[in-house]
Amino acid sequence: MAECELIIAGGTVIDGAGGPRFAADIGVAEGRIVAMGDLSDQPAADRIDAAGLIVAPGFIDAHTHDDRLLFSDPTMAPKASQGVTSVVVGNCGVSLAPYVPEGDPPPPLNLLGGHDEFCFPTVAAYAEALEKSPAAINAAVLAGHTTFRAAVMDDLTRAATPDEIEAMTALLDEALAAGCVGLSTGTAYPAAAAAPTEELMALAERLGPAGAVFTTHMRDEADDVIPAIEETLDIARRAGVHVVISHHKVCGKENFGRSRETLAVIEGARAEGLDVDLDTYPYAAGSTVLLKGLVKRSKRVLITWCEPHPEMGGRDLADIMAEWDVDVNEAIARLNPAGAVYFQADEGDVQRILAFSQTMVGSDGLPHDPRPHPRLWGAFARVLGHYSRDLALFSLEEAVHRMTGVPARVFGLEGRGLIAEGAAADLVLFDAETILDRSTYEDSVQQATGIKLVMVNGQAVWRDGATTGNRPGKLIRRKD
Ligand SMILES: [Zn+2]
Repeated sequence: MAECELIIAGGTVIDGAGGPRFAADIGVAEGRIVAMGDLSDQPAADRIDAAGLIVAPGFIDAHTHDDRLLFSDPTMAPKASQGVTSVVVGNCGVSLAPYVPEGDPPPPLNLLGGHDEFCFPTVAAYAEALEKSPAAINAAVLAGHTTFRAAVMDDLTRAATPDEIEAMTALLDEALAAGCVGLSTGTAYPAAAAAPTEELMALAERLGPAGAVFTTHMRDEADDVIPAIEETLDIARRAGVHVVISHHKVCGKENFGRSRETLAVIEGARAEGLDVDLDTYPYAAGSTVLLKGLVKRSKRVLITWCEPHPEMGGRDLADIMAEWDVDVNEAIARLNPAGAVYFQADEGDVQRILAFSQTMVGSDGLPHDPRPHPRLWGAFARVLGHYSRDLALFSLEEAVHRMTGVPARVFGLEGRGLIAEGAAADLVLFDAETILDRSTYEDSVQQATGIKLVMVNGQAVWRDGATTGNRPGKLIRRKD
């Protein structure tokens, strides 16, 4: 048996594969799990008592906008505090690299918190910077289609020309060579809405042979959600690529309940043999930049940040309109650039999508927002505490599986997402009785409760509510 540097003793293991929990000690050496079972007779330099706690693989946040946070706050507190040990960055068409903007980047690229200090002309440069200056947790990188557009086009309101598509293809090839795990798109946003399916196809075709995925914030998540899913499935079928539908939801009152339809379509595509998966965040409200289309379908809109009127952060749009005595169009024009939380979905749909067997958990948190949607600090603890334990929507084993084994498989993160000999020692120790999110819409920067210890590559990064200061995170490159 391999020599252990550390033994986590007496815990209850949920191994991430979806099966029932079991009692086992876990031995760690050189950043990996090297032994499992009864290790009471084994010597080890360090021993952690995990009695009464669940020992699970560290969670993988399948959907993040943490591209810049890895550098600007390498403790990665919003994520490490919930037991997240790896993040997938670059979602929704929005990646920090490869892009060096002249002036302010267009929305939604401004969700990344500024490109000033952290500008990368290539994904290789981003990867190299992260390896030189690692964060507390691991990261896998998606390249963003909207970022490509901003890098090669002078006008984002039209389709790319053949030359521009060729330039974007070269950027994608560079990103794939640098180890990125896939391409993301965000055709719901004005900066990419004019891209026809064929523009996306030209890029998607490079992904399948490279074993990379295509993730998408689809064109529509409201009235036209079904045609949007059909477009995504068409890309999967024709490009032979594994697709991931991002933060799946159905928005607008008229569409409440339609996740029955969307999930049936997705299930049908899977039965047809297409590789299609999805992620979601466990809330009925969403958040992004301030957009008229989203305001119109929401029953309530909360402004989270506002450049021209910072004092409006934290206030309801309806109150601002009343105070200024203006209509919604005028209010939006005066507030932008701004960000908002949109109360736009139905709790029944949230639960139905979460309960779907292929759904991964992705926070979609916006870490540079001064009043972030509560999902940033709460998504994982909320699924474990609120939805699994309190509402019994699924077992704790299933909840952990969707946060670990499933995303590791979907994104090809080798040696992650499972507790097994040889796997990376990315681990979380938590109390199943007390784990819960505390982050609310009114007061969102709140640590979850119940997380005792978080380890990344064998080193503790978070213990009893505080960072340890260790930064053992790695860039997880796509396996070839
Ligand atoms: Zn998105």
